[in-house]
Amino acid sequence: MVPGPDVVIACPRCGALHRRWSLASGNTFGAVLWSDGWFEAPMCPLPPWIARCVGCRVFFWVKRAVELGEMDHYTSQCDETLTTLTLESTGTRRVEVMRQLRARLGLGLQAVRHLVDHLPARVGEYVRPSDARDVVAALGQLGAHVSSTCVVTQPYVQTNPQEWSEAPQVEYVTEALFLEAIREGLATTPDEERELRQWAWWVGNKDYRRGAPWVPLSQRAPEVRENAAALMALCSTHDAEQRLMHAELLRESERFEEARALLDLPPPLATSPGLDVLRDAVRRGESRLLPLPRPEAV
Ligand SMILES: [Zn+2]
Repeated sequence: MVPGPDVVIACPRCGALHRRWSLASGNTFGAVLWSDGWFEAPMCPLPPWIARCVGCRVFFWVKRAVELGEMDHYTSQCDETLTTLTLESTGTRRVEVMRQLRARLGLGLQAVRHLVDHLPARVGEYVRPSDARDVVAALGQLGAHVSSTCVVTQPYVQTNPQEWSEAPQVEYVTEALFLEAIREGLATTPDEERELRQWAWWVGNKDYRRGAPWVPLSQRAPEVRENAAALMALCSTHDAEQRLMHAELLRESERFEEARALLDLPPPLATSPGLDVLRDAVRRGESRLLPLPRPEAV
């Protein structure tokens, strides 16, 4: 997994800037397909799906936000030569040298006095050699001695606008926030609502993928149960994928008979090792979230 540059996006409503991370490359090494349809790929994680805008506080779809560009961080390809000047001695016309330094460096009287009392002292860094030469000549005319050193640097180039650098990263959204986004009307079509409700379900199952003691959907908080019921209502029996999702929601809700009936409904679902695992779990009255066998592993 290789991280890519952050992508700068704008809230579709108010234009507030956010950043979302990207991947330059990923793979499915160690990936697991779960019975709720969540494909967990540690080496290819998905960026946040939705976000609450930091400006107007309204939710938006991260993938659909206008992309303004990618963050760049690199140093200039061209070397830059800086000339550093050091005042070694003022000579006898000390006051005039001090006046010259005040004019050229924009320093106050106290600062210049401190500087000439602590020689040698750096009196400037110049990108253009001609600027450095002018200073050496002006101070030299007054009898001061100024030495110069050339330093080759690779300057850091900030190519991104300042507000891009200050834009906050979009964060992953919790189950409760997905449900809030639905209540606030982020979904404008049944397909979008199904998508958000499925995400809420997936995120709500997150801890169980990591070994937390299983709690069936039917025993979770009222808003979680309501989400499961609404998601089931949005599943068509004519769409194989949605029928499987509906059956899985029924199974996780301990409604095994209804789950079995849905899985057996004509037309038959395409056989797969995953489907066999689900049928077996339904038969045994098992409601736990299950990792499914990978097709290539069979
Ligand atoms: Zn906004």
